[in-house]
Amino acid sequence: MIGDKYQDARSIFLSLQTEVDGTIEVEALVAVSHRAGKVYCVYARFFGIMIDSHVHLNRQEFAGAEAEVLERARSAGVTTFLNVGYDLVSSAESIALAESHPDILATVGIHPHDAALLADAEGQHLPETKNILDQLREMANNPRVVAIGEIGLDFFRDLSPRPAQRTALKLQLEIAEELQLPVVFHIRDAWAETLAMIDEFGVPTRAGVLHSFSGDEDSVHWARERGFFLGIGGPVTYKNSQLDTLVAKAGVEMILLETDAPWLPPVPHRGQRNESSYLVHTRAKVAAALDLTENEVDIQTTKNFQRLFAGGPLVS
Ligand SMILES: [Zn+2]
Repeated sequence: MIGDKYQDARSIFLSLQTEVDGTIEVEALVAVSHRAGKVYCVYARFFGIMIDSHVHLNRQEFAGAEAEVLERARSAGVTTFLNVGYDLVSSAESIALAESHPDILATVGIHPHDAALLADAEGQHLPETKNILDQLREMANNPRVVAIGEIGLDFFRDLSPRPAQRTALKLQLEIAEELQLPVVFHIRDAWAETLAMIDEFGVPTRAGVLHSFSGDEDSVHWARERGFFLGIGGPVTYKNSQLDTLVAKAGVEMILLETDAPWLPPVPHRGQRNESSYLVHTRAKVAAALDLTENEVDIQTTKNFQRLFAGGPLVS
């Protein structure tokens, strides 16, 4: 458990500090769920630390393997997991995971694939719309929930009619604003449309992350102007990906590391089930793209996570 690890890290840190009379430079970072009031300190100079800012540990691909998957990730240095909901069931499962693991946080939301739950093919509300929104709102009030998402537009698979996707995005942006939560966006083959819609409906006060970023330079610029972050995962390691160039243009201050596990495994795990411990490969590629050390990437991306989901760093 993180609690034990934290205690271990802390005692090692304190003993080393005593030995060398405090000359080792140690950066203390804090990953928090501000609403839970829980604070985890990790000592970045001693331990690789990463936050998996987008994962789906509730998926059946992990059934029966959750404990070992979490333990491998913690051993690799992952200190916090943001488990992202995509419909009512997965949102409830995310909360259940977060309530039973102090290093897991949750989001709740209806993915564009399931937007037809909230609106018809013309984008009109359904008889169940209000009831579903009420359930989402109630779940979002759980203290382990730190964001609304993943929500957005997906014109690649078009599993829900586009007018329904637009309505679902609008309705959930309203909940995020009402509850003053940041937003995790899923955008696929709909970059211009989604960014224009966010501007039209109102940029969330608490900002957001463009998960599995696959936009262009204009999208990076759009995000920077609005204080948004870019979720960077396995695709940055793919051979023909141009993402590393965009990561370099964005700068580490805009980057959150993520796996989207069980999907989108990084090289050299393509074709396998992805898991949070593989985040090390994404981190290595991001560090190379930015010409930074992995440690520098850990420190800044952890701060970014705090800034977005905890409303600001408690320790900087
Ligand atoms: Zn996802």
